Amino acid sequence: MSQAHGYAATSADAPLAPFVFERRTPGPHDVQMDILYCGICHSDLHTARNEWQNTIFPSVPGHEIVGRVTAVGSEVKGFKVGDLAGVGCMVDSCRTCPSCAAGEEQYCDNGFTGTYNGPLFGGGENTYGGYSDHVVVDERYVLRVTHGTDNLAAVAPLLCAGITVYSPMAHWQVGPGQSVGVVGLGGLGHMAVKIAKALGAHVVLFTTSESKREDGKRLGADEVVISKDPEQMAAQAGKLDFILNTVAASHNLDPFLNALKRDGAMVLVGAPEHPHPTPTVFNLIMRRRTIAGSLIGGIAQTQEMLDFCAKHGIVSDIEMIEPRQINEAYERMLKGDVKYRFVMDLAKLDKAA
Ligand code: NAP
Ligand code: ZN
Ligand code: ZN
Repeated sequence: MSQAHGYAATSADAPLAPFVFERRTPGPHDVQMDILYCGICHSDLHTARNEWQNTIFPSVPGHEIVGRVTAVGSEVKGFKVGDLAGVGCMVDSCRTCPSCAAGEEQYCDNGFTGTYNGPLFGGGENTYGGYSDHVVVDERYVLRVTHGTDNLAAVAPLLCAGITVYSPMAHWQVGPGQSVGVVGLGGLGHMAVKIAKALGAHVVLFTTSESKREDGKRLGADEVVISKDPEQMAAQAGKLDFILNTVAASHNLDPFLNALKRDGAMVLVGAPEHPHPTPTVFNLIMRRRTIAGSLIGGIAQTQEMLDFCAKHGIVSDIEMIEPRQINEAYERMLKGDVKYRFVMDLAKLDKAA
């Protein structure tokens, strides 16, 4: 066992605070790494505040991890000490069910083990995530970081935000000639704009924030629509092939469904605390539209996404924080006041705290 330092929530209404816990000694298939950077996902906040009512406390969030390998087990083939490595949202799954066999471990029939808040297979303790100094993970769930070393902090958010938007775009075959809507310009949304653009689509960003209009264009959107303005929304009616909805709060889906063409699909990746009040069924029936959901992405596809982003020079737009600033960062994230992902610099973790 090794002693780990991190930040944890001890209850739904307690601010995150320094926390000391133990990590396992690396087994034959394990990779141990020092965490360099960890992105701050809205799911971390939903979990720390028990908004999905499944949080095991104490909870150490963080599933957008980039680190440097410090030890490997005797059977590890893909990593050696000194390598850069990434860990996303999963650290284990059953490996035998049809979903695992298909490389879609996120849909494991027996439930994948989350990087945090995930009971381990075979029972036992809670998992603790990346708001911490090091982590030990089976190499099957560790990613290779193929970006250069100069902007590693900005690579970390790809491990959740990047794959969560890439996976549905791959599944619904987003590409050239298609018009793609992205709803919400937050951590996921800004990655969706960049990736949809790199895939060759015409990108329409829907934002509630007039102040994000210019950024939307800079990030790659061909059009920016202020979703609170009914006239601007009406002008998009029937224009889009695919919409990725990343909004973290309950909202009316109908105005976005109206923007879909016949046979268009809107995929929900935002996971709000409270249900959406819609859709109106007629909005689906009249043009054979689809609403679907999508959860992160499998390990092989996460590697594919990292390699795609490295090839296209895609990273996240980030604002770096020290671990002790995490509670303030959550408050700002709730206000949509982050451009566009907070990343925690673990070198600044105060282990004496
Ligand atoms: P985020 O950075 O907070 O971004 C969410 C964006 O949604 C905001 O920037 C804002 O964009 C928009 N928004 C927020 N409140 C809104 C409201 N009341 N009405 C309309 N728009 C609103 O969050 P994130 O990290 O990107 O995560 C987004 C959601 O995806 C969260 O619920 C998270 O848990 C979930 N998630 C799901 C998966 C998955 O596998 N499905 C993976 C990761 C995260 P504008 O200012 O542009 O309007
Ligand atoms: Zn996440
Ligand atoms: Zn499985």
